[in-house]
Amino acid sequence: MQERRKFKKRFCKYCESKIDLIDYKDIAQLKFSLSERFKIMPRRLTGNCKHHQEMVTIAIKRARQTALIPYIVDRKNVVESPLDMIK
Ligand SMILES: [Zn+2]
Repeated sequence: MQERRKFKKRFCKYCESKIDLIDYKDIAQLKFSLSERFKIMPRRLTGNCKHHQEMVTIAIKRARQTALIPYIVDRKNVVESPLDMIK
């Protein structure tokens, strides 16, 4: 029997677009790693490499402190696409 590949080959979105530095002010980049409730998506779901995931987490935490991204989202205020509310 031949070996089966259970998982699709994942790739890092940041590596693909060749981003060296993730800026906390650039929410468009951070969007890839944010869930709809502004949680940081784990690496196993996004497929980011370790190097970029660490940068993303730092950037997101900074963006939260500067109030670019909310810490929590109320249940009542949940919209289909909350990222549109930022802009
Ligand atoms: Zn990467």
